[in-house]
Amino acid sequence: MTAKDAPRPDGVRRLYELMRRVNSSSDPAEVLEEIARGVVEVLGFGIAAIARLEGDTLVMTTVAGPEDVRTQIIGRRTPVSAILNEFAQADEWGILRYVPHGRLPDEIMSAAWIPEFAPSEDPEAWHPLDALYAPLYSATGQLLGNMSVDLPPDNRIPGRRDRELLEMFVVQAGLAMSHAQQRERLAEQVRLGETLQRVTAAGRLLGLDLTLHEAAEAIASGLHATQVWVHCFPDGEAGTSEYSAGYPDRAPTHRQAALRRDLARAAHDLGKPLVVGRQSDETGLWGVQNVLALYDAETLIAVPVAVGHELLGNLVILRGQDAPDLSEAELGAVDQISRELGRMVLNTRLYETERRLVAELQEIDRYKGELIATISHELKTPLTSIIGHIELLEEISTEVDSVQAISRNAQRLNRLIENLLNYSRIQDRREHVRRAVDLASLCENSLDLLAVQAEQGGLQLKLASPSTPVVVHGDPEELARVVDNILSNAVKYTPAGGRVDVAVSSEGGWAEVACTDTGLGISTIDQSHLFSAFHRSSNPEALSIPGTGLGLAISRRIAEMHGGEIVVDSTLGEGSTFRLRLPVGERSVGERPLAEGTFGDRAFDEGSLGDPTLGDWSLEDA
Ligand code: ADP
Repeated sequence: MTAKDAPRPDGVRRLYELMRRVNSSSDPAEVLEEIARGVVEVLGFGIAAIARLEGDTLVMTTVAGPEDVRTQIIGRRTPVSAILNEFAQADEWGILRYVPHGRLPDEIMSAAWIPEFAPSEDPEAWHPLDALYAPLYSATGQLLGNMSVDLPPDNRIPGRRDRELLEMFVVQAGLAMSHAQQRERLAEQVRLGETLQRVTAAGRLLGLDLTLHEAAEAIASGLHATQVWVHCFPDGEAGTSEYSAGYPDRAPTHRQAALRRDLARAAHDLGKPLVVGRQSDETGLWGVQNVLALYDAETLIAVPVAVGHELLGNLVILRGQDAPDLSEAELGAVDQISRELGRMVLNTRLYETERRLVAELQEIDRYKGELIATISHELKTPLTSIIGHIELLEEISTEVDSVQAISRNAQRLNRLIENLLNYSRIQDRREHVRRAVDLASLCENSLDLLAVQAEQGGLQLKLASPSTPVVVHGDPEELARVVDNILSNAVKYTPAGGRVDVAVSSEGGWAEVACTDTGLGISTIDQSHLFSAFHRSSNPEALSIPGTGLGLAISRRIAEMHGGEIVVDSTLGEGSTFRLRLPVGERSVGERPLAEGTFGDRAFDEGSLGDPTLGDWSLEDA
């Protein structure tokens, strides 16, 4: 056995200790330090250096050996391609790679530190330009780093035993790096998950300004950014508001507005984050390098904030030298964050647009109400005077046709103005008269008034009502107006030979007046607008009959103010049924609650109108 093959006595023990530490230590850097020291102290190499792969660069992180060499090579960066090239030329010693001097041109010896000693003639001797490497792989075969050793024991090319022992240290270094990588990935996932959560939570804050500021802060800390800006473009299709936020610098300067826009467009066209470095700027965009220099940043990442094809804004992230490249996971998170921001911006814009439209509609509605009220009031006074004078003329002579025509049309105008006044009055009405009202009586009264008109039009009128009154609680005048409107419409829009059936009933706490006619009917489209002010059926037959289109709008409003409703069921050309439904007794709107059975048909029958619990209610027209 030669001296160089002799086992190193404490090597195995030290290795065992290392294995224990690799599996238990929470600090991989410390373990790698231990391994490098073991290679030097136990195996007798002059120097052991471990580099870690970051992106496509090997960065020297751990060095054991003389202090001056250590300070010389720690932090040294070597492109991974250079080292792979050396591996390709090397002799394979198991997992070790030996590159004898002279095999590679001197300038390619990239990661090398070259010891200073005179080469020996002995073929077994170590040459200053010899290199011995050990690539460090994860369990899945991914290259994680590299260990290089120099100045082997006794300055001789390592023998089998030394190589075997070195291999064992190398395996431990690979494991330690693998653990470190897994731990880092896990920590990264947690960090990015928390960032996304913070950005999403920021969406619940009041106002986009606050939301964006909170999001910018979360992104800056979650992505190790030195500066973050979020900006929404003012002329987005969905709105005109401009919001921007930044962290730690709050607002991006005005001078950079054009650049932000250009970056966002470029990134949007690219379909992914646009990464610009100090060295690698393919954008050709004027000003990017200025921003990098101004903020002492290494990389600028521009991310479009978009929903579908619509570009709503952008996100700019600056990173320093210590974190220049975004990892795959970070890129994924940035993508999710930008989509989340897009959703927030769009929601805010839609909300703002909606709020503006509602305000505009309310203003238009207010103006319409004011206009109707003013015009009808202004018309009312001269018309009252005209009607007064017509009455005087009629007293003198009723024979003149023109007087009759003027009188008829003046009455028609008067009805229109009355309707307009009623409509505008009912819109703002909050207070109501509350009295017991018998719906059957209202229908009887209304039909009495319509009897002549029905007879002239060749119509049959019929009322079906229970023997007991059907009592609701409300304003008798207004409820009479509703019943009159529904019943007179039925008569008006039913041609000769038809019939109008009115049924009054009460069931399950609701009173109902159902008016069924065999008239013109109403198309489905017209039914959907039937209760809007001024709506008249598009059907020419119905249009030829004079009307204002205000009756049903007024009626529905009155019904609703009484806690009830009007519904229609109609088929064009066949006829219609209008139902007025009102709550009976204590469920009327605005009424103080009454105990079950204190009001209704029974209480009414028993003459309980004088009952103090019923207040000053009285039965209209009873
Ligand atoms: P007006 O009758 O003064 O036009 P209304 O608001 O009372 O106004 O009615 C609105 C429209 O609904 C009417 O113009 C008419 O076209 C239609 N309509 C109402 N009641 C009936 C009915 N019973 N049969 C057919 N059409 C009706």
